[in-house]
Amino acid sequence: MNTTLELGYINGIIKNHKENSIYGRWIRLSDVEKVLSKFENSSYFSSKIIGNSEDSRNIHEVTIGNGSKKILIWTQMHGNESTGTKAVIDLINYLYKLKDKIRLQILTNATIKIIPLLNPDGAEYYTRYNANSIDLNRDAVNKDAAESKLLRKVLDNFKPDFCFNLHDQRTIFGVEGENKPATISFLAPSEESSRKVTNTRIKTMNVICSMNKLLQEIIPGQVGRYSDEFYPTATGDNFQKLGFPTILIESGHFKDDYQRETVRNFTFMSLLQGIYHISSVKNFNDYQDYFKIPNNVKNFGDLLHIYPNKENVGYLYEEILEENLIKFIPKMIKEDISNLIFHKEIDFVR
Ligand SMILES: [Zn+2]
Repeated sequence: MNTTLELGYINGIIKNHKENSIYGRWIRLSDVEKVLSKFENSSYFSSKIIGNSEDSRNIHEVTIGNGSKKILIWTQMHGNESTGTKAVIDLINYLYKLKDKIRLQILTNATIKIIPLLNPDGAEYYTRYNANSIDLNRDAVNKDAAESKLLRKVLDNFKPDFCFNLHDQRTIFGVEGENKPATISFLAPSEESSRKVTNTRIKTMNVICSMNKLLQEIIPGQVGRYSDEFYPTATGDNFQKLGFPTILIESGHFKDDYQRETVRNFTFMSLLQGIYHISSVKNFNDYQDYFKIPNNVKNFGDLLHIYPNKENVGYLYEEILEENLIKFIPKMIKEDISNLIFHKEIDFVR
């Protein structure tokens, strides 16, 4: 069954439902709460606080739809990776206004739980870690962090059919063989070191194939597949192991889009395609196309200075939070840059 959404339809949604009050890289709890306060609870929509971070910031959960397929989405477990949060806010905006056929199909067949900002302390200080310097994506076994305990509680109680774990990847990632940036990358995490293709992974791969098919129409050659090396303490790997298919989406770089406002749309499209696919089909057995998605490789730098009479100099931007703004400060790359592609080149020869 072909579930690929039409481009005209998706572009129309983005035009009408993008939440313009939040944008840029530094997305904090106050931004999310401002948006969530606009929604009212109804027979198919509820929004509530489900717990607190280590520094006592609220963690919210939004539940939409009444269907039997259960989907759990969480974002920004790494506090400085905000693109997924912007995309789910757009998704909530869209699903809240129950009207057309596609939306109805999703909401009658699926129940979607969204935790729009799992690490509000990290978000506040624009850091990957939580308030106790824990990487939540390496805390799935120990569950030392309050945020990890909470996510696991939601998982255990809700027992989702599918999970989406949303992250941002750095600008250094490209798509193997394409000379293009990895604008969106996917992963169906492994359950153990042999990387065996289990039934849970097959389901995960099936949904990724559906999302990739759509994205190839929009950003051909800019979708990558993350290494499925097993990480024993990572969230996705452990949730897969427990039998909950968990799709990792990494939002990455698109030309000149350091604020990640364009890739936000691609992340939204991926999510919408994924949940529409899940809400529409009965079996999730086809997965071979997953392995046709090219690998993610580290082959990009941000900025190249080309000189007439001396060696070229490559830079990577470092993100610094300064006076309420994320600034991108060029830092010289000391290693060999001859195999790197650069997002931007400045030519001093001419
Ligand atoms: Zn991350």
